[in-house]
Amino acid sequence: MFEKLKQKLKKIVERVTKKTTEEVPVEAPAEKPIEVPPEAAAEAAPEVPPEVPAEVKPEAQPEVPVEVEAEVPPKVPPAPTKVVPKVKPPAPEAPPAKPKVLPPAKPKVLRRVVARITRRELTPADVEDVIWELQVGLLESDVAVPVSDKIIDRTKELLTGRKLGLTEDPKKLVEEILRQAIREVLSTEKKVDVLELIKAKRAKGEPAVFVFLGINGHGKTTTVAKLAKYIVDHGYKPLLAAADTFRAAGIEQLEIHADRLGLEVVKQKRGADAAAVAFDAIAHAKAKGFDVVLIDTAGRMQTDVNLMDEMKKIVRVSKPDLKIFIGDALTGNDAVEQAATFDKAVGIDGSILCKMDADARGGAALSITQVTGKPILFLGTGQDYKDLVEFDPDFLLKALFSD
Ligand code: GDP
Repeated sequence: MFEKLKQKLKKIVERVTKKTTEEVPVEAPAEKPIEVPPEAAAEAAPEVPPEVPAEVKPEAQPEVPVEVEAEVPPKVPPAPTKVVPKVKPPAPEAPPAKPKVLPPAKPKVLRRVVARITRRELTPADVEDVIWELQVGLLESDVAVPVSDKIIDRTKELLTGRKLGLTEDPKKLVEEILRQAIREVLSTEKKVDVLELIKAKRAKGEPAVFVFLGINGHGKTTTVAKLAKYIVDHGYKPLLAAADTFRAAGIEQLEIHADRLGLEVVKQKRGADAAAVAFDAIAHAKAKGFDVVLIDTAGRMQTDVNLMDEMKKIVRVSKPDLKIFIGDALTGNDAVEQAATFDKAVGIDGSILCKMDADARGGAALSITQVTGKPILFLGTGQDYKDLVEFDPDFLLKALFSD
């Protein structure tokens, strides 16, 4: 998942790090050991910092060498800033205390010049330059244009003017900014908790009703079966309704899954009224105490007017608690457009994206929530019944930022 986008995000992190990091030459600390009296050592020692303190600009560190006058012990030089390697021999009246050993020093001429790193703010021009990688990555990952624009605008906003402290890891900071921008496009105001919904309906003595919509071959029937297993695993009793009366194989396929999972199916013969199958199933569920009715419908193109009208009829008759769009992540932006069209026709409450395990781009997963305004409920991650994961933005973010 996200192969292309992951590479681009890595590049962004590298470039931001480069842009916020400047190398400034400074003199290295002394290397040759020298002996000085304790008082002078006490004053001088702190002036050889082992590390460059965060946020300190190089200009703020003046290089004013001050000699340590070892032969005049009582007179301590005012605010010495550097120990010079050349030290005069101790005077006869030198203090009796044992001299302390300072860190090694080198002759002035041999002093090494090392790079001191400082950090600066990102200007709007820097951000424009860096953001290009993100734009290309989102485009290559088939992220819908309005969604890509939103991610880019938010990233720009969060990056511009941001200054990194020396102790701050640029990689972590940039990742956090990108995560935030992406998390925002994956979240919706309205949350859907499938199990809570079933529980609430059960408390009222009614079955919850879920209708599934989508295009043939995109994983609808398999996903209905996976969700049925998920519901059983959480202690509820689902009933399947074979309202895909359009294809004989549609009914058989659902029956095969039901047999494997030990579930009951309500069906009629091929060509029967799909809305009537849904109606029968709900009546049966009420009579027999099922907790949920899962209505599988015939796959249809969003452009097929007759099938869309049939869909509206199923919805009118069954009054579902949830209308769930099932999309194939591999189809990228097409899945997003289908979801938007189904939403316009019958109003979806959420989506399930299948085949995430085979999707290298991840664009549909990043786009569908923003485009439809409805949450992703689950992701299909394989062909087994267990390969259904509850949607959590962190699942995608983890895949996006893993090494
Ligand atoms: P439908 O025509 O929309 O009902 O689609 P199906 O349920 O028959 O699924 C079509 C194909 O997609 C089948 O071979 C499924 O095993 C496969 N499939 C469904 N979901 C997933 C998934 O999450 N990952 C993978 N790799 N294959 C899936």
